[in-house]
Amino acid sequence: MWLCGKRKKEMELSNKILYYSTNRDLNTEEIKGFKGEVTFKEALFMGQAPDNGLFMPGSLPELYKEEILSLKGRPYYEVAFEILRKYLKDDISDEKLKEICRDAYTFSIPLEKITGEIYLARMDQGPTASFKDFAAQVMSRLMEELKEETQEITVLVATSGDTGSAIGTAYKGLESIKVCILYPELEVSEGQRKQLNAIGDNTSTLAIDGKFDDCQRLVKQAFGDPELKFLNLTSANSINIGRILPQIVYYFYSYVNVVDEILPVIFSVPSGNFGNSLGCEIARRMGLPVEPLIIATNENDEFPKFLESGVYDKVDPSRKCLSNAMNVGNPSNLARYFDLYGGTVDKEGNVHKKPDVTLMRKNLYSVSISDEETVETIKEIFEKFNVLLEPHGAVGVAALMHHYGKINKTAICFETAHPSKFPEIIKETLNITPKPHPSLADIDKRVIEPEHLPNDYQTFKNYLLSFK
Ligand SMILES: *Cc1c(COP(=O)(O)O)cnc(C)c1O
Repeated sequence: MWLCGKRKKEMELSNKILYYSTNRDLNTEEIKGFKGEVTFKEALFMGQAPDNGLFMPGSLPELYKEEILSLKGRPYYEVAFEILRKYLKDDISDEKLKEICRDAYTFSIPLEKITGEIYLARMDQGPTASFKDFAAQVMSRLMEELKEETQEITVLVATSGDTGSAIGTAYKGLESIKVCILYPELEVSEGQRKQLNAIGDNTSTLAIDGKFDDCQRLVKQAFGDPELKFLNLTSANSINIGRILPQIVYYFYSYVNVVDEILPVIFSVPSGNFGNSLGCEIARRMGLPVEPLIIATNENDEFPKFLESGVYDKVDPSRKCLSNAMNVGNPSNLARYFDLYGGTVDKEGNVHKKPDVTLMRKNLYSVSISDEETVETIKEIFEKFNVLLEPHGAVGVAALMHHYGKINKTAICFETAHPSKFPEIIKETLNITPKPHPSLADIDKRVIEPEHLPNDYQTFKNYLLSFK
């Protein structure tokens, strides 16, 4: 406590951050070669911890008020550099990290006023028009930088929509990293299919004759297959800590660009696997005055129910809603939330130790929004304020409205995708056709035929073996 700010900061900077597993307190048998803590680089390439938990940073660096305010008005890539270097300083030089951030972030976040002190952070300016670009663009460059020079890597992704194209586009053109995306032939929207099939280059897209769950099963089986070891398979889903760290940045960025002094701000985040909102929870622990964090879900209401009752019960199978990227009945990042609040939950959703629910209720607010209310919100916000939302963003705004009546203060809602990715719903609700995002404008001209594969592991494996 007696350390002055500068000295304390130096101490923090000299402390190496290691990454532990959220399953550290489970009495699993000792795992060969896993000491319980790894470096960022190791966590990045492992994806999931060997004990099936998720990696978490051993300490969370703090920012002082002045340091937070000093980020105001600066370009996005500079804010990204300032935040990320606190975690990556042991793994990558400042110079290199600066270059990566500058190269990755050729886009930023427009902050649109809805009404009063309520803002909409549009996260749709990246190359595939969803917020996933913010993490994917940096993660791909970190992998390229940190892998051994001669090492060939294959990134496997099962996608139900936006993740696949964000990842594929981010890794496009990187030498010695291959990307293989599996998507359910009949479950993705027309726009998503076009985006996925247009990537090409070092990305192969497989249209699987099955459901999203089947794609995920094929990918999981491949990860555990010793005959595929030569591919150095790695995951790019939000279980990877490399996807989470870049998602801390935009909470600082949007905060400083709507306030003039340090004051509490409400954040409302449309959530599925909770990777996005976790960035906000971590930002809060780094000193950002988030009060509260609203975790907005669609009809997959396992988390709001848990906050209310203290009993966790996953939704299985998950419910199909208009905000399809949030159709998750057992969020993978719940393990990280439980861990931050002193509890443990495994990936099947079994609670081994209860977190501090009272504290969770103080910091977090969560509400489930029906499809009906989602559509009503799109309509109301457009008619009253001339602000166009798509279904995911509408869930976030609706959740804020549930909470906002209680306190009147500054709030930021996150719009996680561009409205033109969902033209059918918007046409039906508002009778207008959203102007296409620039990255989607010539999509019809870029179609590459995907490989069509049956829902069969041996066929998929033979396909991967042909990479040899
Ligand atoms: C992935 C996605 C979400 C959900 O984000 P999580 O990090 O999984 O909670 C929300 N909206 C859109 C448009 C997405 O693509």
